[in-house]
Amino acid sequence: MRRQRQAKIVATLGPATSTKEAIKALFDAGADVFRFNFSHGSHADHQARCDIVRQIEREAGRPIAILADLQGPKLRVGQFAAGKVTLAEGAEFTLDRDPAPGDGTRVCLPHPELFEVIDAGQSLLLDDGKLRLAVLGRSADKRAIRTRVVTGGVLSDRKGVNVPDVVLPIPALTQKDLRDLDFALDMGADWVALSFVQRPEDLHQARAIIGNRAALLAKLEKPAALDGLDAIVAASDAVMVARGDLGVELPPERVPGVQKRILRTCRQHGKPIVIATQMLESMISSPVPTRAEASDVASAIYDGADAVMLSAESASGAYPTAAVSIMDRIIREVEKDPLYRQMIAAQNQAPLPNSGDAICSALRDVTGILGAVATVTYTSSGHTSLRAARERPMAPILSITPNLSTARRLALAWGVHTTVSPDVRNEARMVAAACQAALAEGFAKPGDQIAITAGVPFGQPGSTNLLRIAQIWPTQDAAAA
Ligand code: PGA
Ligand code: MN
Repeated sequence: MRRQRQAKIVATLGPATSTKEAIKALFDAGADVFRFNFSHGSHADHQARCDIVRQIEREAGRPIAILADLQGPKLRVGQFAAGKVTLAEGAEFTLDRDPAPGDGTRVCLPHPELFEVIDAGQSLLLDDGKLRLAVLGRSADKRAIRTRVVTGGVLSDRKGVNVPDVVLPIPALTQKDLRDLDFALDMGADWVALSFVQRPEDLHQARAIIGNRAALLAKLEKPAALDGLDAIVAASDAVMVARGDLGVELPPERVPGVQKRILRTCRQHGKPIVIATQMLESMISSPVPTRAEASDVASAIYDGADAVMLSAESASGAYPTAAVSIMDRIIREVEKDPLYRQMIAAQNQAPLPNSGDAICSALRDVTGILGAVATVTYTSSGHTSLRAARERPMAPILSITPNLSTARRLALAWGVHTTVSPDVRNEARMVAAACQAALAEGFAKPGDQIAITAGVPFGQPGSTNLLRIAQIWPTQDAAAA
């Protein structure tokens, strides 16, 4: 089974998508990567969903990536006795350190650091900036912050709090993140997403713990990250434009330009880039998206994004499967547009002066000139497939790896379809196995041409130095058997 598109879909799992039927429906509709949001749910919830995803993966015979998204130093209010309250404009509301369930007058804010630095005159933004509180002052014992409601609305359990006026002295991995990270690695997550990244050191710190057990994705949602953007992208395996918090910390009019700048930087580095949050927001409660939402998803694809993401739309919305289906249709429509190819070609970045990049760059010409139906890349770490994807060749990238973990990680990358198969030992086997995979995975039919890359000598990880063009013969199946 192969997808009829190059860009990928990340779907967040949650209460609306916890059964095998629901998760299978998302996968069938087009979800390539499942995001586990560690801001919500228990470890038992995540483990249960993980077991289901792995079961679906086995049954489908397709690698699926699990992205464990750590909450990071995101400030959140505690819980309410009634699950939510309505705050009226002009009313007073207190945030304190009392863990008792909140009501219309107060709620717990379980972040002691904030009580040290917050001052009268500053603003607190709640629930992605939907509500705004003006700080009146804090109690002498620094255990309560008194505020006045400037913009009211409904505030429910564990909604986010942003403090745009304050730089908080907090590390990128909280105690909760460290516990969640341990659990996520044991669970076998393929990607770990680090939230509120501000500096490359945040990634180095996470990498020191994770090692090679998972790939590392940086969520860019703090204006501070933009100062060291190049170094942050270089230190990450992939990046997410997390527009929810980014659009609270920055004025909304700055988000589009920042999104494009991050996207361009990631394309330069050849790091997968995910555009996230509110892409089909109205589909949380409506079976169809707005025209503006359809346009937002399409624009991200025209700009060259590797993946687009659903959050509440798939985790807790009323139409999770429809949201994935519509994303799938929008992406396929864009990818059919000749203008898309032109826009992608115009962004192509210069290859680095090494044999792997030289071959990947040549692949783009070779597949275009020959009308080759697939680019077959042999890869052990996934690096060659990502360098090939960076070139955005016309022909889809069929990646062959002996490592299941590599196959799963590559599910996030533009145009990469991966199959797990043992290493080949010589060129004849390489060609036969590539042709067989191209047939079996639905990329080629007899008579078609494919381009193949590998590194020789075979079986030694190292840089790609071989480009081979092959034609699929009618007897290919028999020859490869
Ligand atoms: P979150 O990240 O859903 O974990 O907050 C995404 C975003 O901020 O856009
Ligand atoms: Mn966020």
